[in-house]
Amino acid sequence: MAERQFDVIINGGGMVGLAFVLALRGSGLRVALVESRLPTPWRAEQMQNRVSSLTLASQRLLERLGVWPGLASARISPFEAIHAWDAGGGVRFHARDLGEAWLGHIVENGLIQQILFEAVQANTETSVFAPASIEQVNRDDAGALTVRLEDGRRLGARLLVGADGARSLVRDWAGIGVRQRAYGQRGVVATVRAEHHHDLVARQRFLAGGPLALLPLADGRCSIVWSMPEDEAEATLDMDEPAFHAALSNASEGVLGEVLESESRAAFPLRAMHSERYVAPGFALVGDAAHVIHPLAGQGVNLGFLDAASLAEVLCQAVRRGRDPGALATLRRYERWRRGDNQLMQSAMDGFHWLFSNRDPVRGLARNLGFALTDRAGPVKRRIMEHAVGLRGDLPALARP
Ligand SMILES: Cc1cc2nc3c(=O)[nH]c(=O)nc-3n(C[C@H](O)[C@H](O)[C@H](O)COP(=O)(O)OP(=O)(O)OC[C@H]3O[C@@H](n4cnc5c(N)ncnc54)[C@H](O)[C@@H]3O)c2cc1C
Repeated sequence: MAERQFDVIINGGGMVGLAFVLALRGSGLRVALVESRLPTPWRAEQMQNRVSSLTLASQRLLERLGVWPGLASARISPFEAIHAWDAGGGVRFHARDLGEAWLGHIVENGLIQQILFEAVQANTETSVFAPASIEQVNRDDAGALTVRLEDGRRLGARLLVGADGARSLVRDWAGIGVRQRAYGQRGVVATVRAEHHHDLVARQRFLAGGPLALLPLADGRCSIVWSMPEDEAEATLDMDEPAFHAALSNASEGVLGEVLESESRAAFPLRAMHSERYVAPGFALVGDAAHVIHPLAGQGVNLGFLDAASLAEVLCQAVRRGRDPGALATLRRYERWRRGDNQLMQSAMDGFHWLFSNRDPVRGLARNLGFALTDRAGPVKRRIMEHAVGLRGDLPALARP
């Protein structure tokens, strides 16, 4: 027998889980959040090496959740142009082509998580269990879920949402399988200062080993994500600073001059994963629990935010109609809404990865042709941009222009 009764329990208070909790505010649903770790406090004097490139859709969503001013007053880094290139050609996008001031913002993950967490804690409608973890989940024939925490407390609910990242336990409890593959790459991240200012341009150079992204920061430095084969990543982590700076200057073709300083070098494994389903009776998955994509287009958390807002919208409609939030028919609406879009993005990333990650001359020709066509064909370029920054597509109300 549960000691406390809720309608929805969210497992995982990362960026996506926290945004989901806030999106449910005012729904009338009784909500609980379970998170195993308290967020590490964000510090203004230390730029974190894990950052996200937030789309305009994510910005709108965070504005409507009331947390954007908190981010903006702490530290956000806008960019107004994107330049992607390889040895044979390139393409440029500018915010003014879309009539926008910016194409997006670079924000530290730890800052996003902290500001969202503060907003969740300030919201008396939500019960927060952190640090805490779920040990066992049971669902009876009538659809009532009982969740047992490690400390023995029992919580009741109709729906358990997995926002617990790539290794989601909720996914296992729901019996949902995954399709996954390792790229055999790691993403080397660091914060670097180069000779020249980035001029508010987010840059990406496609190299045979993987893409190198130079994301512009407000203080003139760049946050880099350099995808490369595992063994090269190991060697890159082991390099002394002069060797690392020289390798990075070379890999970026000196587009910002020489790299002069760097800090917080680290590497993260890269893989692709997609859950076979996003929902099961009494269960739903959002964010990296449902899909992990290559960071080359910086879309992971942006897709997760759209999942969170879409699922919240579907649940709010269900509540208004007096429906069970854990019923499969309700949850399937969310799955139909989001899975196709996320699959498309994942396939596009896989396609990019295939096209760019080698020296085959035929693929080289295809790349150059693609760059040239995209750069010259105005309407095509505009559509690609509108999708990438979140001005187009079947967006949830919280993220719509
Ligand atoms: C190198 C790199 C660069 C990237 N760059 C970008 C980018 O520029 N833009 C972008 O959009 N995306 C980017 N991504 C992807 C992005 O980081 C992820 O998509 C995002 O962090 C997913 O957020 P999430 O909240 O779904 O999951 P997570 O961040 O994994 O959060 C899961 C949360 O659940 C908690 N948790 C886990 N298990 C349990 C449990 N059993 N019980 C309770 N709590 C639990 C964890 O503590 C954590 O707080 C990048 C990824 C990498 C690797």
